[in-house]
Amino acid sequence: MNLGLDGKVALVVAASTGLGFAAARQLLCEGANVVICGRSEETLAAAADELKAVAGEETAVLAIPCDVTDSAQIESLIAETVSAFGGLDILITNAGGPPGGTFDTTDLSAWHKAIDLTLMSVVHLVQAALPHLRRSDAPAILTITSYSVKQPIPGLLLSNVLRPGVVGLTKTLALELAPENIRVNSILPGWTATERVTHIFEYRAETNGTTAEAERAKVTDAIPMGRMARPEEFANVAAFLVSPAASYVTGVMMQVDGGVVAGLL
Ligand code: NAD
Repeated sequence: MNLGLDGKVALVVAASTGLGFAAARQLLCEGANVVICGRSEETLAAAADELKAVAGEETAVLAIPCDVTDSAQIESLIAETVSAFGGLDILITNAGGPPGGTFDTTDLSAWHKAIDLTLMSVVHLVQAALPHLRRSDAPAILTITSYSVKQPIPGLLLSNVLRPGVVGLTKTLALELAPENIRVNSILPGWTATERVTHIFEYRAETNGTTAEAERAKVTDAIPMGRMARPEEFANVAAFLVSPAASYVTGVMMQVDGGVVAGLL
């Protein structure tokens, strides 16, 4: 199937590693021009080099440093994207997950930081991108959340509370922007083998006095498909959802989780 992404301009946020990087790579392979952002110039430059190696002659990659908790940096990110490519068709929002903890171990400062990182970053990105998406002939927004919006994960209080806010925002935007043909969807990833997840297993092993392999096995044993996702399995779905091939799909909260959420709704 031709996804119709040739020549489209896609901004993938927090894309120097992990899920964002995988989505950026897939969009490039499908013919889109891709802008990636992240906080560290060094990591970003390394990611951009890797992406340039897969870019075709017709596609371009641009890397722009940006901390998504800073709304002024977000405005510059969008302005630079539009100035480089003449417009914006696709926005994929993303950021690192907020720190783990329980209600007792989470202080007010951590709450406020997580609100800025997980929820307000999406608000600022959509605000800055909308005027340009409104000029696109196939505009799409995709938010990256987590399966935890359906099934909270113990020890991840901030994520469990704030990601449902992003889903509420995604669903509401889908309704409000549908008359303008701007589609808004979310992917709810399950366990996906990124570097971040490797660190989580190492951390759990240290805390529980076990090994990273044992912690990994605990997770994969609870996944009906018996394994974590590869980042490209997430990225294939992301590329489809933001593409013109998904032109009648909006307001969808798409689990890519190997069956881990078994609820009926
Ligand atoms: P990751 O840590 O590999 O990638 C997150 C990226 O965000 C990193 O490149 C990091 O530098 C960047 N980042 C963090 N804070 C930022 C900021 N303030 N401004 C700009 N960039 C920032 O993680 P990942 O595995 O790719 O996950 C991406 C998102 O999806 C996270 O929010 C994560 O919690 C969520 N998620 C991941 C999984 C999984 O299994 N990998 C599952 C469900 C949800």
